[in-house]
Amino acid sequence: MHQHLQNFLQQRTDANLYRRRLCHETKQQPELMIDGEKYLSFCSNDYLGLAVHPKLIKAWQEGAETYGVGSGASHLVTGHTQAHHALEEELAAFMRRERALLFSTGYMANVGVLSALLSRHDAVFTDKLNHASLIDGALLSRAKVQRFPHNDMERLAYLLANTSARHKLIVVDGVFSMDGDLADLPAIVKLAHQHNAWVMVDDAHGFGAVGKTGRGTLEHFNLSVQDVQILMGTLGKAAGVSGAFVAGDEVLIEALIQSARSYIYTTALPPALAHTLRESVHILDNEPQHREQLNDLIAYFKQQAQQYDIELMPSDTAIQPIVIGDAGRALALSQRLKAEHQLIVTAIRPPTVPDNTARLRITLCSLHTKENIDYLMKALIKVLN
Ligand SMILES: *Cc1c(COP(=O)(O)O)cnc(C)c1O
Repeated sequence: MHQHLQNFLQQRTDANLYRRRLCHETKQQPELMIDGEKYLSFCSNDYLGLAVHPKLIKAWQEGAETYGVGSGASHLVTGHTQAHHALEEELAAFMRRERALLFSTGYMANVGVLSALLSRHDAVFTDKLNHASLIDGALLSRAKVQRFPHNDMERLAYLLANTSARHKLIVVDGVFSMDGDLADLPAIVKLAHQHNAWVMVDDAHGFGAVGKTGRGTLEHFNLSVQDVQILMGTLGKAAGVSGAFVAGDEVLIEALIQSARSYIYTTALPPALAHTLRESVHILDNEPQHREQLNDLIAYFKQQAQQYDIELMPSDTAIQPIVIGDAGRALALSQRLKAEHQLIVTAIRPPTVPDNTARLRITLCSLHTKENIDYLMKALIKVLN
């Protein structure tokens, strides 16, 4: 085993796919300190800067005073507190759904939902660029996994027309995490109606950030619970903290409480964290300025990139990748941005993205300034040319 692992690590190194963790010393914000030096980061999914919002820091302290720091048990034993319960009700109200169920992470929510709802006689239709947690959940469910090329609605229609599965579930990211574009939800919903399938949307990057009032990709497309029966959102990105939820009707949520193993067999989130998240939801609902600032920055970034002939992907979200292709080149560019310009921009490489599509993944946050973007642009022009 040891020899095998050493060979594996060597292969990763040779292919420029070895991953290293960056260790920083500051709050989660655009300006980071690493080894005592200042850097400007464009990597965080904390799109609205809520991870450092004073009201949330205060709520966390308050929550710890009231509830202590650990939940002590799983939700079905004694881990479920008034804080978790109120958060679920507020999330359901915010998303205008009957119920919401809190999970410890988005990864666990996706794995839990798919493995609980599907089994051997069912089929799950998944976009090839879906998040790893959806792929893992689909595999764990033992349903037949039918993958379609990214947003290829003709292929999805063909697969739906040619299945003999008992239950059919189409599952997609609302916002694709490495590309920043949106799922073609209007077309997906139409196909689902025609073929008697359900739809699940993983709105990890949409919740809080996308849509006029931050209710996500479904709000952007004006879709309802009749169109998308299962909505998953995460609470560690735009909501600024940690955790995830699934929202849907009463029957769906009760079925998940009975059978989602990643819900049942794990310690509940600390109640102080649930208490903090209640304040997050309140901020998402009542402080539109963070989202407005983010949208201004996205528009400014795209306009500047166009002016300097930097080719972007078709994204209107905070995720703005620049495709480089070769993993080694992407890594070298990321290293130069760090060493020469004190910029942190992650090189995303296979297997996170398909072969030969390694990229610099830039994410914007409401705490960035236009001057930050100007600085990034100048550095990008230097390293790319
Ligand atoms: C981040 C992410 C997840 C996982 O959520 P965590 O709460 O970080 O575990 C799931 N799906 C998508 C699309 C994501 O981007």
